[in-house]
Amino acid sequence: MTPYGPLTLDPATAVLHYAQETFEGMKAYRHADGSVHLFRPEENAKRMARSSKRLAFPELPVDEFIAAVEALVKVDERWVPTNTDGGEKSLYLRPFMFASEAFLGVRPAQHVTFMVIASPAGAYFKGGIKPVTLWLSEEYTRAGRGGMGAAKTGGNYASSLVAQQEATANGCDQVVFLDGREGKYVEELGGMNMYYVFDDGRIVTPETGTILEGITRASIIELAGKLGHRVEERKLSIDEWRDGITSGAITEIFACGTAAVVTPVGSLKWKGGELPAPTSTDLTMRIRAALVDVQFGRADDTFGWMRRVV
Ligand SMILES: *Cc1c(COP(=O)(O)O)cnc(C)c1O
Repeated sequence: MTPYGPLTLDPATAVLHYAQETFEGMKAYRHADGSVHLFRPEENAKRMARSSKRLAFPELPVDEFIAAVEALVKVDERWVPTNTDGGEKSLYLRPFMFASEAFLGVRPAQHVTFMVIASPAGAYFKGGIKPVTLWLSEEYTRAGRGGMGAAKTGGNYASSLVAQQEATANGCDQVVFLDGREGKYVEELGGMNMYYVFDDGRIVTPETGTILEGITRASIIELAGKLGHRVEERKLSIDEWRDGITSGAITEIFACGTAAVVTPVGSLKWKGGELPAPTSTDLTMRIRAALVDVQFGRADDTFGWMRRVV
């Protein structure tokens, strides 16, 4: 445990040149009784191990990952915000691993650094939840077959930035990517997974493979099942999206990830076209509330997702 501060790196540090890096994102939540809890940390640990494998890193054992995160939360306990007003403030945790060997040859680094840092985080939505508008990226994709789309690694973010710039320039909040092979199937946003709600109660989310396997996404599959919805993990094309909105078969669309938990999706724009927002956000908001209530200890943790640290 060391005080937060800058790192000194050799200019030849491998990560600066070849981007051998992987990270996680998770939160510590303070409950009303003062206790502090993590949400499914073993899932972050397992995902980091999978990302590490793809990035040719050694795999950090699950218990060591969790021990590191817990040690930091305990030391920084006073930085975990309280929420008196039903708020959603938390301590954001960022475990990460990078190639710290000073070596310009191209091979997996023989010196690797794993660190965890933390920062208090306010509610993602300030002044009420408002649907995110999306820009359809037709030029850029985020992952290809055999690529590293399923790994949580900085390179995926580096490649998404120019598409996000395009989204912003077109007045949209976020970019949505299609598959790299056919340019036809919805993958995900820059850092959130997608969900579609149909008028018969079915819920569809793009299948895994080239998308990042979100822990929020996986939790919603279980939660929606318990709420009586059939959840399909499958390909969903941009045509099905357009037809579903036009016919009214798709009633809600939402995106999910640790930062926002769940956010309704509004209109979709692309070069020369626009599709209106779905008509409802009912189930979206119910799923959101169900997750947030478990995280902040305001509902029973029937799935056993929370792990007490303090
Ligand atoms: C982290 C991440 C998500 C969301 O994952 P959660 O585990 O739910 O936070 C989705 N997409 C990408 C690209 C991500 O990096």
